Amino acid sequence: MSNYHIKHLEEYFQVYRKSVRNPESYWEEIAEEHFLWHKRWDEVLSYDFEKPEFKWFKGAKLNITENCIDRHLRTRGDKTAILFEPNDTTEKAQHISYNELHERVCKMANVLKDKGVEKGDRVCIYLPMIPELAVSVLACARIGAIHSVVFAGFSSKALATRINDSSCKMLITSDGSFRGNKKIDLKGIVDAALENCESIENVLVVKRIETNISMQNGRDIWLQPLLDNASSSCEPEIMDAEDPLFILYTSGSTGTPKGMVHTTAGYMVYAAFTFKNVFQYREDDVYWCTADIGWITGHSYIVYGPLANGATTVMFEGVPSYPDYGRFWEIVEKHKVTQFYTAPTAIRALAKEKTEYVEKYDLSSLKILGTVGEPINEEAWHWYDENVGKKKCPIVDTWWQTETGGIMISPIPYSTPAIPTFATLPLPGIQPALMDEEGKEIKGNQVDGRLCIKFPWPSMARTIWNNHQRYKETYFSAYKGMYFTGDGALRDSVGYYRITGRVDDVVIVSGHNLGTAPIEDAINEHPAVAESAIVGYPHEIKGSALYGYVILKETGETRNQDNLRKEINQLISDRIGPIAKLDKIQFTSGLPKTRSGKIMRRILRKIASNDTSNIGDTSTLLNPEIVEELMENVISS
Ligand code: ATP
Ligand code: MG
Repeated sequence: MSNYHIKHLEEYFQVYRKSVRNPESYWEEIAEEHFLWHKRWDEVLSYDFEKPEFKWFKGAKLNITENCIDRHLRTRGDKTAILFEPNDTTEKAQHISYNELHERVCKMANVLKDKGVEKGDRVCIYLPMIPELAVSVLACARIGAIHSVVFAGFSSKALATRINDSSCKMLITSDGSFRGNKKIDLKGIVDAALENCESIENVLVVKRIETNISMQNGRDIWLQPLLDNASSSCEPEIMDAEDPLFILYTSGSTGTPKGMVHTTAGYMVYAAFTFKNVFQYREDDVYWCTADIGWITGHSYIVYGPLANGATTVMFEGVPSYPDYGRFWEIVEKHKVTQFYTAPTAIRALAKEKTEYVEKYDLSSLKILGTVGEPINEEAWHWYDENVGKKKCPIVDTWWQTETGGIMISPIPYSTPAIPTFATLPLPGIQPALMDEEGKEIKGNQVDGRLCIKFPWPSMARTIWNNHQRYKETYFSAYKGMYFTGDGALRDSVGYYRITGRVDDVVIVSGHNLGTAPIEDAINEHPAVAESAIVGYPHEIKGSALYGYVILKETGETRNQDNLRKEINQLISDRIGPIAKLDKIQFTSGLPKTRSGKIMRRILRKIASNDTSNIGDTSTLLNPEIVEELMENVISS
């Protein structure tokens, strides 16, 4: 099977060299061998960084659901496609076979068509992590409607903004959702949102928690009766390679969320290729990604990537702490999970708890562990390696973005030796470049700069919905002929990449560029520290100085705060150098986080700079109340 599956480092280098020498023929070979096309492409790639415009597999015709479902039916019809694990441990897991998935997707697609949804229409999906979510996504793709999944933890305001931005015609939701021991009134949130959304014609409602909700006449419809009457065959809409597949809003940690538009063929090829290689997927594996389908990770690595490979993909409705902190590991044991993919924030949260929660379960089925979403600090990496992987499972620290559609820089298990906190090497076809502030590429090793990608790849987002100008300005204006990621990175002596955080997180102190991530790593080594975040604030002499927000572990810490401050600075001094010492340290009970677990640093920067008159959009915060606390206890001088 050509170079679809990379198995050792030498092979990686070989494949990599080939992929950058001639990207077109590299991707063409993969597209030809592994997918189902109704018509072949006329041209593999055409692009223009100025416009900017990127077209992959131009002229090709396909439907992604045929690639994810239909073509597996003959050989894998009875194999589990989606393994659904409910929130409640007393409810049985569901094994949805490829045959059953096919039937459910076709029925759902027919319901959508029947309600007037056509190719190109936008459908907003606001559902908890239940099978209907994956089915709805695929049903849209079946008929060529553009799905826009909004994470079901978002507020009514955030939901309304996203519906309006892309004028969705239809909304699919549920009466409510289970999260741990809580029931969430999703439909109530939807009703509030829809007061301000004129484009929505119908709301399809899944019954999940069996609660009393209000149904607006003519607008809201229970889904199940419609499905019961729908036909289970639905011819796939034949799509153009560059037809939009979905819109997905970025998490908004740096500004208003951007509606990234992904198209069909390139996205499919890249999601499938990276899934197979990064997770070294084999036929009988049971793969589990704990993300929500509301994020890009869920799109590419719960739904499309795994299903395009005929894999079994686990969908978990609940939270890692319910009924207790052993839930993840209980599920791994129960379903004999082979690949486990999660976020550093989840690892840190679990690492704070007793290790008995992990030790209690048999995790010997695990082969590969992954992380995504933010830089993983060293301590969390080792905790994961030792307690979950038992030092036997390669860890893939995968760097990528909503905009990139798929994993860009990551180790390939058994092939790339991992180093904690390093995303390591670019995947085939990905050409990273580090740039300086003047716009020059920084060559060689042991350097750091702004991370760009200097050649198109198949799954790059093609535009921002309704705002191509913002797309151009955000990603293609800083450096000519390149995609600018917004992240900073360093390349070490062997060429491994380490993502140092967003470029805005690099603080220039007395002329020295200091990435905040390594400083946070140093602080987190202090036994009393649970988590920390560093930002810069204006300083008369140094230009910028460093401000640290520190969460202490709940160990009944009795040391006096000033002593703790001294110890923390001593640690930084030892690990990085006195230049990185913090001028101010504020102890706090929490940090402002997005729903995907990222620290919203722009808020911390404003507080540290005493510039709180305009704190900006906090609608995507998980814990807005923390902002007050932080402002009250700010260390002014
Ligand atoms: P917005 O662009 O709206 O501010 P966001 O960047 O948080 O939101 P995502 O696309 O979900 O939205 O996140 C991508 C970002 O997450 C990357 O640019 C990077 O900063 C960070 N990231 C993701 N994976 C890793 C990783 N393995 N190591 C380091 N950073 C990572
Ligand atoms: Mg981003």
